[in-house]
Amino acid sequence: MSSIFDQLQADHKILSEVAEGDFPRPTQTRVIAVANQKGGVGKTTTAVNVAAVLAQGGLEVLVIDADSQGNASTALGVGHRDGTISIYDVLVEGTPIRDVAVQTRFTPNLWCVPATIDVAAVEIELIDAERRESRMRMALREYLLGRREQGLPRLDYVLIDCPPSLGIMTINAFVAAGEVLIPMQAEYYALEGLALLTRSINRIAEIHNPVLGVSMIALTMFDKRTMLSRDVEAEVRNYFPEATMETRIPRSVRVAEAPSYGSPVVFWDPRSTGSVAYAKLAQEIAMHGVAHTMTEGET
Ligand code: ATP
Ligand code: MG
Repeated sequence: MSSIFDQLQADHKILSEVAEGDFPRPTQTRVIAVANQKGGVGKTTTAVNVAAVLAQGGLEVLVIDADSQGNASTALGVGHRDGTISIYDVLVEGTPIRDVAVQTRFTPNLWCVPATIDVAAVEIELIDAERRESRMRMALREYLLGRREQGLPRLDYVLIDCPPSLGIMTINAFVAAGEVLIPMQAEYYALEGLALLTRSINRIAEIHNPVLGVSMIALTMFDKRTMLSRDVEAEVRNYFPEATMETRIPRSVRVAEAPSYGSPVVFWDPRSTGSVAYAKLAQEIAMHGVAHTMTEGET
């Protein structure tokens, strides 16, 4: 059994690796939808903290807040009062992302497209709209191309924080993304939810986006002392051996407190257990991509 000293040493090593910017630059922009139709499972917390660690590691990162609750905007300290231009304007009005993306105060390479309460109306506004599922994809493509033309650095990661539903907004995220990251809590109904989510992802893949699949699953608010958590984890690993991340995010008060300071926990209290776990998860996600790219290159 490892001692507290071993644990502290391991934590210190992870933190210094992150501080040194030890993250591989992906060969192309990785667009990751952070999704789960179940509410309160840690989507937003995961999206903003993984984004923050990657940015801290020197990569160019954009978070798209695709949820009318605006939680990712709050957590990144980005204003999202009524009237702020947001992802609503991008999807409904065709406003370019470059006019909407805001630089966060933490580091110049971490950006956020905010969401306001009117984002809820996207579901209705787009009901009969033309190409309603691919609006985010088109906007993002135009933004990435525009950055290249302007000589701006290429984005390394785009993380889309989805709402807790499988409506048009989440579908837009699935069509825009190359990968889906599913945060899930280890509880009894989680596996049923995962089955539904997998079916939806596969359906979108068939119709709109053949590269899409369940790429990564991260266990959140994990309590390794309970038998239920361990059972659910074993089950998920059994069904998704490749996709299930090694790193589990423990339940931690500091993680829950951070949004009220308008900051991801990894910036606010980088040494807390939750921050260390998110640093590790971000590293794993970055490496997951490298392995993926290499395999593709080899075949
Ligand atoms: P929604 O479906 O409403 O968008 P979500 O899936 O985005 O929710 P979060 O908002 O990230 O979930 O988390 C739900 C709540 O749990 C929040 O209050 C958050 O601060 C808290 N929380 C998330 N992760 C942890 C953690 N590891 N430890 C303790 N609390 C956490
Ligand atoms: Mg959320």
